[in-house]
Amino acid sequence: MLYVSQQQSWQVNKPLSLKVNSCIRRTQSGKGPCRTVAFTALADGTETSIALNSLTSIRVSDMEAGSTVSAIRSQRVLVGEEIQPALITIKEGKIHSILPDPGAALNTAGEVLDVGNSLVMPGIVDCHVHVNEPGRTDWEGYWTATRAAAAGGVTTIVDMPLNSIPPTTTLQNLHTKLQAAAGQCFVDTAFWGGVIPGNQLELRPMIRAGVVGFKCFLIHSGVDEFPHVSDSDLHKVMRQLQGTGTVLLFHAEKEVPQLLEEDGDPSEYSTFLRSRPDVMELEAIRTVTELCLRYQVRCHIVHLSSAQSLEVIRAARLAGAPLTVETTHHYLTLSAEDIPPRATQFKCCPPIRGTANQEQLWSALRAGDIDMVVSDHSPCTPSLKQLDSGDFSQAWGGISSLQFGLSLFWSSASKRGFSVPDVVRLLCKKPALLCRLGNRKGSLTPGHDADLVIWDPEKEFTVTEDNIHHKHKLTPYLGRTLCGEVKGTVVRGNLVYFDGSFSPQAVGQHLLLEQIRTPAAL
Ligand SMILES: [Zn+2]
Repeated sequence: MLYVSQQQSWQVNKPLSLKVNSCIRRTQSGKGPCRTVAFTALADGTETSIALNSLTSIRVSDMEAGSTVSAIRSQRVLVGEEIQPALITIKEGKIHSILPDPGAALNTAGEVLDVGNSLVMPGIVDCHVHVNEPGRTDWEGYWTATRAAAAGGVTTIVDMPLNSIPPTTTLQNLHTKLQAAAGQCFVDTAFWGGVIPGNQLELRPMIRAGVVGFKCFLIHSGVDEFPHVSDSDLHKVMRQLQGTGTVLLFHAEKEVPQLLEEDGDPSEYSTFLRSRPDVMELEAIRTVTELCLRYQVRCHIVHLSSAQSLEVIRAARLAGAPLTVETTHHYLTLSAEDIPPRATQFKCCPPIRGTANQEQLWSALRAGDIDMVVSDHSPCTPSLKQLDSGDFSQAWGGISSLQFGLSLFWSSASKRGFSVPDVVRLLCKKPALLCRLGNRKGSLTPGHDADLVIWDPEKEFTVTEDNIHHKHKLTPYLGRTLCGEVKGTVVRGNLVYFDGSFSPQAVGQHLLLEQIRTPAAL
């Protein structure tokens, strides 16, 4: 591979021959020194033609996945709300400075990664990921999930408390999970705890141990070891959480009396969709908003799928509820009308709804009524998707998508007028703030962790079994062409993914909230 950057002198670290072909552009109205030159480089027997802007010299280095990066230079860095040329310097895993002159000399001896015109912005923070390890590691695991995350420009994941066995519902179980994840993560990983009936006395010890918040269900969760809570459980839980600063996440669906008995064809998507109507979300969200207003504990609605609940959410926020809302890439990208019969890889709960509803979700994102977009990566073994029968009622509900979040979002969002700063707000900053990681994750700021994604927003690629790094290849996005390809991912200055290769070491850390940020009374 060939990386070219501007340096004070010619420095070639490996066999290379260069042949300058022509001067493309000169300064001073065509009379001054050559500023842009086209040349042919021959390295490792491969001929490469490159045009360099403002060429003073070139340098070839061998930076590859696994390298520690001291600085990144690009013609396109997101600095504040603007995209501009810059040199980002990195010290001890933190962003040290962002210099507007990408040609600035580096004061340290380390390696500069010059990514040319690729866009550099904060790494994605995906705060809704089911890793499933330990206990259901055959569904997904830390090694595969975090490599897929790295390949998708995700630098932090937050692991959900359920689908692993044991679920993260006690302090001891949290320790079991931390042990299972140790040494296996290619990106940084934080942890949600779980609220189930009767475990309210475990919650504060888990907060002290560093969980970023809790999740509960108001309906069957899909796994028996993570039962859902009742209204009376929730009052006890809220009293435990008051004053801690933590956040309670709600899977917002509630059983409601069905108006019609369902007896449609279970291999038709419409049959499944009718079994989880919008009103199930609406009723659950009414419960959440009442609790949130009454107890003033931060509450968060995960994977909002139905736009019919937006009015209740808006009203609660206006009334002072500390309430946030996420939606997922699948609700913004896929629509019920396009799901073929038997295609159970599209099944998730709440369900993917119709295109009119999807448009309203996009409007709510634009208006700020939905705060963030996450993957809700929830894979399983292919056999649990019941593809043989194509029975939506029996298939596992969960969509595999962690690796493709940025590209999925950008493919649709860019066409709707969303900008790169919007992407950073919705996929990086807001999720980091939800998890109280906003002081080190989610923005490109000196002092923050040097977590970066390097990507080409204009470049298209097709999702194939070969480029999927999840444990299983089954995903509704197989064969889809997406816009925005990730070239590299940096986690605290470590180049964990670059040009299709991974760091040999799993350098991800556990992100446990420091005790100092929780009140002494805990
Ligand atoms: Zn989930």
